Amino acid sequence: MNPTIFERLFLILVCVIFFNLVIEAQTIKVTLLGTGAPAPVMDRFGPSILIEAGDQKLVFDAGRGALQRLTQMKVKQKEIQGVFFTHLHSDHVVGFPDFWLIGWLIGLRETPLLVWGPEGTRKMISNLEKAFEFDIKIRISDDKAAPNGVVIKAVDIKESVVYEKNGVKVTAFEVDHEPVKPAFGYRIDYAGRSLVLSGDTRPSENLVKYAQGVDLLFHEIVSPEAFKRTPLDAERAKSVAAHHTTPEQAGEIFSKSKPKLAVLSHIVPPTATEADLRPLIRKTYSGALELGEDLMVIEVGEKVLVRRPIK
Ligand SMILES: [Zn+2]
Ligand SMILES: [Zn+2]
Repeated sequence: MNPTIFERLFLILVCVIFFNLVIEAQTIKVTLLGTGAPAPVMDRFGPSILIEAGDQKLVFDAGRGALQRLTQMKVKQKEIQGVFFTHLHSDHVVGFPDFWLIGWLIGLRETPLLVWGPEGTRKMISNLEKAFEFDIKIRISDDKAAPNGVVIKAVDIKESVVYEKNGVKVTAFEVDHEPVKPAFGYRIDYAGRSLVLSGDTRPSENLVKYAQGVDLLFHEIVSPEAFKRTPLDAERAKSVAAHHTTPEQAGEIFSKSKPKLAVLSHIVPPTATEADLRPLIRKTYSGALELGEDLMVIEVGEKVLVRRPIK
């Protein structure tokens, strides 16, 4: 018996839904939780990036306000499988105690939190556990918070594949943030999609190697021009800039790496504007480029989609 027109339409609908689910399952979703730097400004919180791939939710760096931004995205701390630090500069980790302790207390986390970072990470975590010893004890005895939920399992890593689960692979690679050593960038691979996060670095050939032809390259940037509008004296500004990548240098890195899309993800100083950055990058790079902002979402599936937050 031939199917009726309704049966055929129903079958097409099921196929469309199934196809969409498959595409969605092969998408990496990146949310810039914070795109700022040490100076406290209201529109750029501290550096932090959320990556969602398959059933994995991973956070890279936890600068000021990471938990607040995560909450704005309606992602619960207990849904996060792991936190990866690029390096231990305070602006990249200062949001971690809030993320860890309040995420546990309010977010009702019941399982240990996994943390990866450069040498010194385990020591920092063990010192944080000591610093918050009083609170941890009282929250367990008085608030009945789950003892397992406050446990951190921290690992000091070297350049290598550091995480592999359910098709999501995270590779740490060294970048050049001298004298902060080691400092890492991360490459994330999932379902044939790939992206690289630079962490903090001046131009790094190792980054170019790992970022070759990736879908997305998230890179830090420093604007010596924007520093002139800050109270920082010229000598100090020059020294800060020497730890980072200028717009002209970023353009060269993007031209060599050839990502589908380059995104400026850590803006130093955080008051640098599009006008400070884009024209100079354009001297050395003509490909796709976005200036990152907090709560910007980029999805890599069949296509690369960029969604900016509604203001
Ligand atoms: Zn740094
Ligand atoms: Zn930084």
